[in-house]
Amino acid sequence: MDLRLAAAVNAGKAAGMATRLLGRGGGTALPGLVALRADPGALRKLGRQLGRGRVLVTGTNGKTTTSRILASILAEAGVPVVHNREGSNLARGMASTLLAAAGPTGRLKVRGGADHALGLFETDEASLPAAARDLAPKAIAFTNLFRDQLDRYGEVDTVAALWREALAAPPPAATLVLNADDPSVAELATGWPGPVHWFGLDDPAFATTDPGAVDARWCRACGGTFAYDRRYFAHIGYWRCTGCERARPAPDTAAESVSLWPESARFTVPGLGELEMPLTGVYNVSNALAAVALARVLGVDAGAIARGVAGVKAAFGRQESVEFEGRRLRIFLCKNPAGANQVIRLLQATTAGTSLNAATLLSDRFADGQDVSWTWDVDYELLAPLVAKCWAGGTRAEDMALRLKYAGWPAPTAVEPDPVRLLDAVLAATTPGDEVAIVPTYTAMIDLRAELTRRGAATRFGEDE
Ligand SMILES: [Zn+2]
Repeated sequence: MDLRLAAAVNAGKAAGMATRLLGRGGGTALPGLVALRADPGALRKLGRQLGRGRVLVTGTNGKTTTSRILASILAEAGVPVVHNREGSNLARGMASTLLAAAGPTGRLKVRGGADHALGLFETDEASLPAAARDLAPKAIAFTNLFRDQLDRYGEVDTVAALWREALAAPPPAATLVLNADDPSVAELATGWPGPVHWFGLDDPAFATTDPGAVDARWCRACGGTFAYDRRYFAHIGYWRCTGCERARPAPDTAAESVSLWPESARFTVPGLGELEMPLTGVYNVSNALAAVALARVLGVDAGAIARGVAGVKAAFGRQESVEFEGRRLRIFLCKNPAGANQVIRLLQATTAGTSLNAATLLSDRFADGQDVSWTWDVDYELLAPLVAKCWAGGTRAEDMALRLKYAGWPAPTAVEPDPVRLLDAVLAATTPGDEVAIVPTYTAMIDLRAELTRRGAATRFGEDE
């Protein structure tokens, strides 16, 4: 028995129990934080007991959805999984997940046996170096690299540098699962000694010529600019460098013939056939491709992949749909300009006529990013001709209303920071049977959901409360 690990595990578990008893709630990261203080090797010692290996999923957007789709696939394949689905994707959060599965001696107890279990870890960009070093993953998927909230990690280049640092640590046998459509992700293959599995979108029907926020402007190899034959959103598409030979690699796992509906999508993956999933948006097809590519790297059969993709449930605040006094509220969390622009395009593609009711909620607490100027990088203009009624909410409701005014939206029915009064305003201006798209930042979504739950509307939300 490793006494130091056992002590760390028990200290972490005790800390978790104490916060629960004190009713502090939340706190999924605290047990891991305490355990890592007591034994900095705890993540490595616990994680490496997972006999089927570890998989990391990272990137600016789509980590949670990609991880959930892969978890659903692995469940269909009968693979026991330890997955940090409950929130924190920092090292302490991953340690908390492992602690919860550990007995008092520090041995993992997983249904089906730790020797046969796989670790699936959604990993924050900044935590990737530690996770790669400690967990020695057999595969790492990179979804995309966008500018996140301005005041969180700073420059895109800082994250790219962290990623390159992380890739110095895992064994060269690890497979990189890379988004071929994102040049910032693709360059991670340069100099990588191990295998690479590429995924990408192969459907020109969803390409655009709109100008938009582009976060990968220069080639790292030669300093040249990127040109696009087709662009799906932001800098994601058929890129090539105008100064050197670099260009989008041909994907090993591709999506063709993509069809989008308001709450589902269908696409064909060569070698697997047609897949259907209860999520929509080109960006979620990209997330599904990342999960399918990982599943293929792990050797999962085609039937389990198709069933897993079909059976996935929306994550907290991501394309959830809830009935509220006869109205259908569809919630689209937006954490940054790239994510918001994808939601804008999804609403544009799935709205017929001038029938869009939309409540946009902008808050500026720490978890949202305190600088709200990013809303000027979001193409709200695209929706202006489609909006029937709109509402502006969140702690910065006034700023949101100003942004919508410049975007040419009709005047909001209400500009209301208070979620109670905002919901009242939505009710007053709609009738049963109406649909309302809710586009909130993170804490605005938390506030709204709390109020929906209080009014009994949100009881059918997912299990991630
Ligand atoms: Zn170049």
